[in-house]
Amino acid sequence: MITHSLKIRLTLLFGVLTLGLIIGFMTYLYYFSSQEILVVGVLFSAALVLVYFIAHIISKPIEQLTRIAEDLDNIDLDNPFVVNTNVYEFKQLAQSLSQMVRTNHEQKKSLLELNVSLEEKVNLRTAALNQVNAELISLSRHDALTGVHNRLAIDEVLKHDFLQFKRSSISYTVMLIDVDFFKLVNDQYGHTVGDEVLKMIASTLHSCMRETDFVARYGGEEFLIILPDTQDQSFILAEKLRHVISSLVFPFGKPLTVSIGLSIVDIDDKAAEDAVRRADKALYIAKENGRNQSQMI
Ligand code: GH3
Ligand code: MG
Ligand code: MG
Repeated sequence: MITHSLKIRLTLLFGVLTLGLIIGFMTYLYYFSSQEILVVGVLFSAALVLVYFIAHIISKPIEQLTRIAEDLDNIDLDNPFVVNTNVYEFKQLAQSLSQMVRTNHEQKKSLLELNVSLEEKVNLRTAALNQVNAELISLSRHDALTGVHNRLAIDEVLKHDFLQFKRSSISYTVMLIDVDFFKLVNDQYGHTVGDEVLKMIASTLHSCMRETDFVARYGGEEFLIILPDTQDQSFILAEKLRHVISSLVFPFGKPLTVSIGLSIVDIDDKAAEDAVRRADKALYIAKENGRNQSQMI
């Protein structure tokens, strides 16, 4: 639209200028014959046609360049555009535009590639970070020596299980296991042997339990186990554990025994710690009664 009107405007401009010149010329030749006026008319028509072509030559490359500029995004870089003109300035303008389009396309392409590779890098880093985070969370909830859960994990699981018990009455048993006369192991065979004994007991407890049971080191030579929804079987399981541990062959060649205290979570319990406190009391009774036994409150 704009370029067409440019051609018309140019034609009109040149036409009006030419007409002005011819009218001036005719006025000057006022008294001339009709034959001469005819010649002037023919001259005027020829001049108009000439003017139209001059306007066409000027406006055509401008039209082409405008169309190209309007559709820059869809230009085929393998077939660069051609502007039909012999005018040096238009050729130069077309060349500069072509170069500009090429540079623009290349910059867009490299930006896109950079974006994709950045996205891939971010995804990889995020996955690695998530994995490290998961490992850190797991590490922070496991005991470094024995590999079973630690005190932090105990607090979390007890809190969770107690809330669940209050909501849905799914009960659980807290079991505390303490190695009998463990101090003697350290004193007689050294701390390193003591550590090995703790590792052996922890892995034995772990292998005797089901997936749903929770095994943790409560502290020192004491372990805590949470048995979900076991009620009557928990005492039988405690006795089984005690026998398995007493039959282990430790690095110093002698057996060891454990004492076990148990308690089932109660409907009157105010906090998760109440069942642990009762299990500890039961453990104390087991020790008082001569060790190597299970007691339940
Ligand atoms: P009891 O039958 O009354 O339980 O006697 P015990 O000797 O087992 O209990 P006591 O509380 O007197 O001693 C526990 C010992 O456990 C003392 C402590 O040095 C040792 N201990 C605690 N943590 C570790 C550990 O990580 N490694 C080793 N090797 N020993 C530990
Ligand atoms: Mg002990
Ligand atoms: Mg102890």
